[in-house]
Amino acid sequence: MSRKHNFSAGPAALPTAVLEQAQAEILDWQGKGLSVMEMSHRSDEYVSIANAAEQDLRELLNISDEYSVLFLQGGATSQFAMVPINLMGEKRRAAYINTGVWSDKAIKEAKRYGEVSLAATTEAEKFCRAPAQSELSIDANAAYLHYTTNETIGGVQFDYIPDSQGLPLVADMSSDILARPVDVNNFDLIYAGAQKNIGPAGITVVIVKRSLLGNTLAGMPTMYDYQVHSKADSMNNTPPTYAWYLSGLVFKWLKAQGGLEAIAKINARKAAKLYAAIDTSDFYANPVALKNRSIMNVPFTLADASLESKFLAEAEAADLLNLQGHRSVGGMRASIYNAVPESSVDALVSFMAEFEKRWG
Ligand SMILES: *Cc1c(COP(=O)(O)O)cnc(C)c1O
Repeated sequence: MSRKHNFSAGPAALPTAVLEQAQAEILDWQGKGLSVMEMSHRSDEYVSIANAAEQDLRELLNISDEYSVLFLQGGATSQFAMVPINLMGEKRRAAYINTGVWSDKAIKEAKRYGEVSLAATTEAEKFCRAPAQSELSIDANAAYLHYTTNETIGGVQFDYIPDSQGLPLVADMSSDILARPVDVNNFDLIYAGAQKNIGPAGITVVIVKRSLLGNTLAGMPTMYDYQVHSKADSMNNTPPTYAWYLSGLVFKWLKAQGGLEAIAKINARKAAKLYAAIDTSDFYANPVALKNRSIMNVPFTLADASLESKFLAEAEAADLLNLQGHRSVGGMRASIYNAVPESSVDALVSFMAEFEKRWG
């Protein structure tokens, strides 16, 4: 068996050790004689798996009991609706920072439920950076401030946590949750689709301050009410049991790596190597402002765009997979999430140098 280097933006690479453990347990989980996939979500066995996953996530991020941790379905995209439905309240207004494709989608969805006031947008600069705190103009009548910590497509990551001037702060952390330590106490709600840095597709983590629950807009589906999920320990209906279990294995793997401080050091090193390869060459380029360069998603272009398909084909032949940029922007993108080993980044950097020698 040979596992290739996987730079997919999502669903993304999972730690090999996690897949091996899942493989070892797939027919018979811990001597119980059945697979996790075949268990009742109400069984003692499964409840222990679900609780352990939540506990490990709480430990990794140091989440206090002031917050409810939810494991939901519908992806981060459903959160684009659930956030306004649950938090807009009577104000029916919310403030958003626009830094690219994902925040733009969140804004469009929020507009279905109320007014959106833009606290800042970098659209005029083609989303090549995050706005500074001093550029934020936050509507004091808004119910919350929403931003995207890491734009997965543009490769733009905030280098600070915005001061929301007293408003609840909501963050879409889909592509950089667990990449480095973060003080959850600065946030009122954090959400993240799992398929980037948590686990397989099909599950979404929401960390929400309990004090915000219970203000859901009238007439909305039961499944869009955080309080319902919070009261039911994310088992109001059948949860995505296997994805939850696999996410739990990833949390255990992260703890075994030394937690978020340890993984952050590795991530910083991986990103530095890749950006150095881009910056020391005239052949490759990345348009993002230095302080906002993402440590998870690294888009880059070739000076000669006509070489792109050759680059991708030769990369694939060298076992470097999924380097094509998002269909909306083109170019290349290497996603180097927690589960992508440093050796994969080394292999990519070598390939880039070699490709430039041949075609540059
Ligand atoms: C991938 C992604 C989403 C969308 O996630 P789905 O689970 O496909 O709905 C939203 N926001 C960000 C930042 C993402 O990276």
